[in-house]
Amino acid sequence: MEFTADVIKTLPPYLFSIFEKRKEELKKKGVDVIDFGIGSPDLPPPAFVIDRLKRELDNPANYAYSPYIGIKEFRQAVADFYKREYGVDLDPDTEVLTLIGSKEGIVHLLQAVVNPGETVLVPDPGFQAYWKAVHLVKGEGYNYPLNEKNGYQPEFENIPEDVYKRTKFMFLNYPSNPTAATTTLDVFEEAVRLAKKYRFIVSNDSAYSFITFTDEVQPSILQAEGAKEVAVEFGSLSKIYNMAGMRIGYIVGNKDIIKALATLKSNVDTCQFIPIQQAAATALNSDRQFVAELNRIYKERRDAMVEGLKAIGIDIRPPEATFYIWAPVKAGYTTEQFTAKLMEEAGIIVTPGTAFGPAGEGYFRISLTKPVEKIREAIERLKRLDWQD
Ligand SMILES: *Cc1c(COP(=O)(O)O)cnc(C)c1O
Repeated sequence: MEFTADVIKTLPPYLFSIFEKRKEELKKKGVDVIDFGIGSPDLPPPAFVIDRLKRELDNPANYAYSPYIGIKEFRQAVADFYKREYGVDLDPDTEVLTLIGSKEGIVHLLQAVVNPGETVLVPDPGFQAYWKAVHLVKGEGYNYPLNEKNGYQPEFENIPEDVYKRTKFMFLNYPSNPTAATTTLDVFEEAVRLAKKYRFIVSNDSAYSFITFTDEVQPSILQAEGAKEVAVEFGSLSKIYNMAGMRIGYIVGNKDIIKALATLKSNVDTCQFIPIQQAAATALNSDRQFVAELNRIYKERRDAMVEGLKAIGIDIRPPEATFYIWAPVKAGYTTEQFTAKLMEEAGIIVTPGTAFGPAGEGYFRISLTKPVEKIREAIERLKRLDWQD
């Protein structure tokens, strides 16, 4: 008997589950695998966040259902965070919604606002969840390319007008996974201008907003003129507070878009466990000291990796944000050959660029979620490999 729906059968496989299988096989053979594949933080959340969580676990009242839009304390913390960091005013009751991680929100938002057949603009290379979300609503994905030449910024002028005319939704993601690119407010302003002109929704995924190695704060799309008419922004505690497994995030911005998502979600889930929302509120209300220390660690890892790659002939400019390195594969190899060589001959897992879209051919992504000693060891292994040039 066949129980699986077509829409699920035709989903491309989740990339990291393929790696997991090969990783287990290699480990069984006794290979000490170093995994720079998946972007899951290896460090713990701040102690003050864990303390709050523990305290709240002792309150029996916290085991009730959460309000479906999330507890007020968390939504207020998000609003205060936007005011403090970006100077953006948000109404915590209508312009902030609690999510069970931003991936949940991304996938559900498309179900709440995109009809089958409507066009969705997706960055290529880009985060896999965007394509999966489009697939699940039977939307028409349109890949807009990001490339090294222009610093992985969207080339708005190269998207044909007839595409804009049928567009319902545009995904942006700065700072970007996988390219590690940052952006500037004028890019968001142009996106908002186009969204207003052609009447579509524009969304920025800000999961990496404070993981940066410069003094400049990355902008929020809500700082763009008139953004609240057409824009939303996703935020996540997963990366900046190492809370990935706690599944907590938020969406902010246009209240009609947020209301559509809240309506869907009220029929699907009943929000996150209250103590997790409380712990997340404590994180957002804290100063930036924790994130500053986190960035210091990622910067040390980044520098070790960039230097190591140089030693094997891959010369890249150090990324200014995120915990990823996006780099070209060595000349003479395809992405698949290069990443397979690393895995089979050195026990090193990196993600092939093609996992993030066709424009990722010729590139690979390293996630800096391993201690610097592991990075140095990986580099030593790479130096010992026979390269064909
Ligand atoms: C890690 C990541 C997220 C965060 O997802 P959560 O569901 O909040 O854990 C969102 N967007 C991008 C681009 C990411 O890389």
